[in-house]
Amino acid sequence: MSLRFLNRIRKTTGFRLTLWYSAIFILSSLALFGIAYVLLSSSLKQKDHETIQAKLKDYRAQYRTGGIIAIRNELNFEKYAGKPNIFFIRVAGPKNQSLFLSIPDQWGNFDLQSLENKAIDKGWIHLRAKEDENVLEIASIDLPDGCSLQIGKNTESREELLESFRKAFIAVMIPVILLGVFGGQFLAFRALRPIRQLIHTVRAITATGKIDSRVPTRQTGDELDELVILFNQMLGQIEVLINGMKDTLDNVAHDLRTPMTRLRGMAEMALQGKQTPENCREALADCLEESERVLKMLNTLMDISEAETGALKLKLEPVNISELLENVVELYRYVAEDKQLVVHTAYPRELYVTADRHRLLQALANLLDNALKYSPSGGRVEVEADAYPQEVVINIKDSGPGIPPEEIPKIWERLYRGDQSRSQRGLGLGLSLVKAIVAAHRGHVEVVSQPGVGSCFSVHLPRQP
Ligand code: ADP
Repeated sequence: MSLRFLNRIRKTTGFRLTLWYSAIFILSSLALFGIAYVLLSSSLKQKDHETIQAKLKDYRAQYRTGGIIAIRNELNFEKYAGKPNIFFIRVAGPKNQSLFLSIPDQWGNFDLQSLENKAIDKGWIHLRAKEDENVLEIASIDLPDGCSLQIGKNTESREELLESFRKAFIAVMIPVILLGVFGGQFLAFRALRPIRQLIHTVRAITATGKIDSRVPTRQTGDELDELVILFNQMLGQIEVLINGMKDTLDNVAHDLRTPMTRLRGMAEMALQGKQTPENCREALADCLEESERVLKMLNTLMDISEAETGALKLKLEPVNISELLENVVELYRYVAEDKQLVVHTAYPRELYVTADRHRLLQALANLLDNALKYSPSGGRVEVEADAYPQEVVINIKDSGPGIPPEEIPKIWERLYRGDQSRSQRGLGLGLSLVKAIVAAHRGHVEVVSQPGVGSCFSVHLPRQP
């Protein structure tokens, strides 16, 4: 394994997580052992001390009955009864000289002589063995005749128990460390699975350019699962946007081809035919009309994009909707008269909202244009507006053919034109622009339509966008 590879592994989140898991597991096991060891050691010590104190009281009672002889008798009795002697017993005179001394045979390596030099007090005396680590713990008590009684116990058995505990711990610690490392690795591997799948999906998308890949979710409800769900949702939205852009581009290309072909045809005809000044002027006028149509389409597309992305600069000011509607109706008076359509208006005189006058006029003009365009001759169009506490609602109702329910979601799309509307003039951009402008004012537009009866487009505008 090269050094660079090891370096790379060291920097991975998986390695760090494994390290953390293992370290926490191993340190917790060590801490647990430490606490258990301290508790065991102190409880053993306390038990030894209690036994020594109890013996002190026993032998003092014996001493009271018959002095050193009574203690000796008691020891002999215990010996014949088969009880092992596990205590050090010493009776010291008033000057701390040993009057009686008994010690188990196997404890021969303590310097008992030194006891005569140690002052007898109520505390514990610790006498270290000459050759090993054993300690003789001794407690003292005063006797009624001015002498002192000392009882002691070797810590050897206690140390043996603690030693076996330490050995057992070392034996257990090896599998615990292995479990910590491998368990940590397994947990880190499992926890990072969604991240690996995420990386895999992003790599696949980058390599193939196909945005339809999704990261599998585990339905665990944890943060990583939420991240995966959000990532998939984001991919879904990007996919819809890209597909929408592709469709728009296809439609624009398709819709541009017809006028451009017509333009070229007109220019070719003008060049091939009799090139009188009238012919040329006529051809140029046709070309101008066609190029204006193309320009209008491109400008409207730009306006829609700007409004949808929020880049459209709105010149907000108080606008009297009634006045604006009057202007729009006036603008289309001749078109309505031409088709013998009755335009009925109903709105209060003063109806103010904060809006961009020019953009709002553009949107309402598009709606009235459609209402007049799609209503048959002799029909009726109604333009109404009402004020509500939070918003103003403008309704434009017509007596046209209506819109089939399955077409309603599509009419707001760019360049969409209904099947029955192909015979009418239009670019299929009017409603997209209306929707985008109204949305830029933080409002919304709805349609209620009944085929064969007519349609009603409602613009909801907040009083303050
Ligand atoms: P255009 O009118 O140029 O075709 P629009 O974006 O304004 O484009 O409208 C999209 C489609 O919605 C129209 O082609 C038509 O099918 C339908 N539509 C819009 N307004 C009306 C209406 N008032 N009555 C019936 N159909 C309508």
